[in-house]
Amino acid sequence: MENLKVMYKEEELQKRIREMAEEIDKDYAGTKEVIVISVLKGAVFFTVDLVKKMKTDIILEVMQLSSYSGTESTGNIIVKKDLDCNIEGKDILIVEDIIDTGRTLKYLKEYLASKNPNTIKVAVLMDKAERREVKVDVDYTGFVIPNKFIVGYGFDYDEKGRNIPYVGYIE
Ligand code: 5GP
Repeated sequence: MENLKVMYKEEELQKRIREMAEEIDKDYAGTKEVIVISVLKGAVFFTVDLVKKMKTDIILEVMQLSSYSGTESTGNIIVKKDLDCNIEGKDILIVEDIIDTGRTLKYLKEYLASKNPNTIKVAVLMDKAERREVKVDVDYTGFVIPNKFIVGYGFDYDEKGRNIPYVGYIE
């Protein structure tokens, strides 16, 4: 991809993800198992690297959300791919690639909360904090980033660029 500048190199990503995994393990000490819900498609890359660094027993689930109108974060969100299991009474860790306006995560947290899990926590790799429009609590944040469009390591530009091993940004 042309005009892509490096924001975080592979090693920087892995170092931070390792720290996050350690913190998560510490917090879940004594918890039998955690249901990790990875949000397709972008969070797949982060999820794989994160759970491989965790020692807590996990069950991996995936969900896909979609907004009605194009790529804009409109807040009109639907569940495109739902859970395969019952999460009532379970401990849930949502793994998301990025929080921008916060609408996607707010919707997902409320959707999952309606299924009566024991706990819900959230891990996001990237946080565009200055763009937040709705308040959502995030338990684990990888990096707080400026308002730039990022591509690579799961982040796409029209579905392309997800497999770029670093996180880049378009100037
Ligand atoms: P929110 O609902 O928090 O506004 O939006 C979150 C979604 O916006 C993410 O799941 C992602 O799909 C998209 N998004 C926000 N910023 C970026 C970005 O810089 N690059 C890419 N590829 N997607 C982004």
